[in-house]
Amino acid sequence: MCRHLGYVGPTTSVGELLTRGTHSLRTQAWAPREMRGGGTINADGFGVAWWRADDAEAAAAQEVTAGRGDISGRGGVPDSAVGGGLVAGRYRNSDPIWTDPAVEEVLPQLRSVGVLASIRSATAGMPVERAACAPFVSGRWAFSHNGVVPEWRRALTAVSSNLDVAATQWGATRLFETARLLEAEAPTDSAALWVLLGELLDSAGPEGFVESPGAALALLATSVLTHAPDARLNLLLGDGEQLWATTVYHALSALVTDDVAILSSEPYDDDPRWQPIPDRCLVTARPGGLSVEPLADVRTAAR
Ligand code: GLN
Repeated sequence: MCRHLGYVGPTTSVGELLTRGTHSLRTQAWAPREMRGGGTINADGFGVAWWRADDAEAAAAQEVTAGRGDISGRGGVPDSAVGGGLVAGRYRNSDPIWTDPAVEEVLPQLRSVGVLASIRSATAGMPVERAACAPFVSGRWAFSHNGVVPEWRRALTAVSSNLDVAATQWGATRLFETARLLEAEAPTDSAALWVLLGELLDSAGPEGFVESPGAALALLATSVLTHAPDARLNLLLGDGEQLWATTVYHALSALVTDDVAILSSEPYDDDPRWQPIPDRCLVTARPGGLSVEPLADVRTAAR
C-alpha cells in the first residue's frame, strides 16, 4: 500500500524531504519495510504538496478595500482556504518516484514550512494515472489515503447518504449530496474519500457540523468502517501548520519536537525519537504538540 509523509516546521526543501534519511520516502517506494500485506512496492506514482502565502486572498482583500469587488471575490479559492493565509501547491507524476528527475532537479528549489507527500501502490482494479495520485488538494488542505475501501462505490455512497441525513438533522442544507461523489478527480476510493472529507472540512469549526479538522477525519473514518468494516484507513491531512492522521490497519510513526512535527508511514531514519502510533487512533501534530487518541473516543457527533 502506499506510504505517506507530513512535515510542519522550519522552512525546508520540499525535494530534500523526499530523499531525506537512510530510509527516505523515495527508498520506501522500492524497499518499504512495513507493508502489512498490502502490496510489495510503491511504483504507481507519487505526489507532493507544499504551502505558500495565499496571493488570491491578499488580492481579494485589496479589491474589497478598494470597493471594486464583493466580499466573495476570492479568485476561485474555496471557502475553506479563506482566512488560513496559506494555500497548497502540488506536483504529481504517475511514474515511479525513483524515475523522476524533478525530485532532484526541481523540487529541491521549492521551500516550505509544510510538506505532505505520498507514494502510491494502486489497489487492484484502480487506474494508474496522475489524477489518482495523492495528495489531493483544495485551498489550504492537502490529503492522502494509505489503504483501501472494499467495494468503495457502494460503501462511500452509503456513507454520503448517512452524513447527508445527519447534516440535515443538524440544520445544514446542501451538504453531502451523493451526486458530489461524481466530482472525484479519479475513479478511486481515495479520490472519493477526499470529496467527502472536503465537505466535512467546509463545515468544520466551533459552530460547524463537526468541531475541528481532526473530528472531521475521525468521523469520516468511523463512518466508512460502519459500511466497510475491513477498510484500511490511514488518512493524512495537512494545512501547512498542522497535521491530522488516522491509523486503521497500516503503520504510522511520529517525530515531534518543539520545532518540528513529522508523521510518516515508516521512520525515514534511525532517530530514536520516532514513536510508533497504535492502531485505530486519531493523531494531531504540530511543532511542540502531539496528541494521540483512540478513534472511538473522538467526539465526532454533530452538536
Ligand atoms: N486505494 C488507494 C489507491 O489505489 C490507496 C492505495 C494504497 O494505499 N496503496 O490509490
